[in-house]
Amino acid sequence: MWNPPSSPWRSYIAGEWTATADARQYEITDPGRNSETVSRYLLATTAEAERAAEAARDALTVWTATTASERSDLVYGLVELWHDHAEDIAQIVSLEMGKPLSESRSEAQRAVSEMRFWAGEALRLGDRTFPSTRRNTDVYTVREPIGPVAAITPWNFPILSPLRKVVPALVCGCPVVLKPALQAPGASLYVAGMLHELGVPAGVFNLLIGGGADVGAALTAHSAIQGITFTGSTDVGLQIAGNAASRNVKLQLEMGGKNAAVVSSYADIPHAAAEISAAAFAVAGQRCTAISRVIVTPEVREELEQALVERAEALRVGHGSDEGTMMGPIVSKDQFEKVHGSVQAGVREGARVLTGGDPLSGDAYSNGYYYPATIVTDVPRKSTLACEEVFGPVLSIISVQDFEEAIDVANETRYGLAASVFTDDMNLSHSFVTRSQSGMVHVNHGTTSEGQVPFGGVKQSGQGAYGIGDTSKDFFTNLKAVYHAYRP
Ligand code: NAD
Repeated sequence: MWNPPSSPWRSYIAGEWTATADARQYEITDPGRNSETVSRYLLATTAEAERAAEAARDALTVWTATTASERSDLVYGLVELWHDHAEDIAQIVSLEMGKPLSESRSEAQRAVSEMRFWAGEALRLGDRTFPSTRRNTDVYTVREPIGPVAAITPWNFPILSPLRKVVPALVCGCPVVLKPALQAPGASLYVAGMLHELGVPAGVFNLLIGGGADVGAALTAHSAIQGITFTGSTDVGLQIAGNAASRNVKLQLEMGGKNAAVVSSYADIPHAAAEISAAAFAVAGQRCTAISRVIVTPEVREELEQALVERAEALRVGHGSDEGTMMGPIVSKDQFEKVHGSVQAGVREGARVLTGGDPLSGDAYSNGYYYPATIVTDVPRKSTLACEEVFGPVLSIISVQDFEEAIDVANETRYGLAASVFTDDMNLSHSFVTRSQSGMVHVNHGTTSEGQVPFGGVKQSGQGAYGIGDTSKDFFTNLKAVYHAYRP
């Protein structure tokens, strides 16, 4: 059992909890009761970011010398310790970023199955043999760790995002420096504590509690870092990629989305509405794979709009820690204002609000960033609301004449993460799967993902299928080709 150190919490570098003497104190207030402080941290500096990168570099020899089964055992150990802490982790996530406890708990539970997957993968990191054109020569490839890695993560999945980077990196033999988003670093602190408890060698795992523009930038720019695995907004991801290009650092980018669901020639509208609504409003729409556009053809429009409105109005909005809450508050004041601003801008551009569209008022909501599930229709296809990520509980409906136009609209944003189609016509679904410009396509269900399956986007959402599944092996390892001649 690991007991969190006393607050304010610090970064974890080279095996020690650490902060400089003049470190700035930073408090997270509950987005659902914003008069209450949830956690306190001492912020890392850019010098500490450099120290963490150097600690990871210094730990490389020790870590690559471990056997695959030792690395596998470490992950199984983490799974065992996890069970003691899963509830505390879920609680801190709900308090720091507001998602309902049911969502935090299922995120913590899913982390277990993904960690188990990686504990097994540790023993499957072999590669291939090749027939040689020469006699008495063995030709094969081996996987080698790429070296120290910077892992930069967002706040919306504060458990899974860090673990999906840290665990495969460690399994593949790479020391890691994790810098989670400042809105919700609590879960990462638990990961650091458990790895410390399990005796991971100093420098193999490091945690920086700090800002993006200073600490994150200093970390990703450090010459010791050989790979950057980033999940976050497209603008920040592209900036990191631009800076990394001159150093030829390996990059894994998982960025924003403007995911569409096309509904056409589909009989089961209640099912489509249930799937779309779940994918649009989980985590209050603050998911990279949230469905934020529904593109409808005329024959289904009216029934679908009505079913979506009914679903949205049935969602119980409340504090994340209240059992029964179906949708929590927005993570922060800035994000709350951005969400409302996007809806207002959409209305100015000609859209019409069907439900929601104004911050929730009344005693239960006066102390937090509560926004209702919002559905806006007649959204002009080229408007900002139709094309840019809102990252909140806002679903835009765009009407089109036919399926061909629906595909054009679905593909016309700069993003390409996930997409759905709801149709009974197999020719249409096949056409959509083939022509959708996205990394993940779903037929007759909402956008989702499974831990053993490659995950990622195209266009300005990412660089193709990355993230989970065994594609991570390709990121965290380089292939070395070996030509081995021998005397017969
Ligand atoms: P963000 O881009 O603001 O921040 C992400 C991380 O980058 C944070 O840790 C932040 O501190 C850090 N950062 C910011 N500036 C930096 C810089 N110059 N150098 C290095 N690091 C820097 O994103 P966010 O608001 O935390 O998260 C929301 C965004 O994440 C949305 O756009 C969402 O779509 C995206 N997201 C994508 C996926 C995916 O898998 N594609 C998953 C979750 C979230």
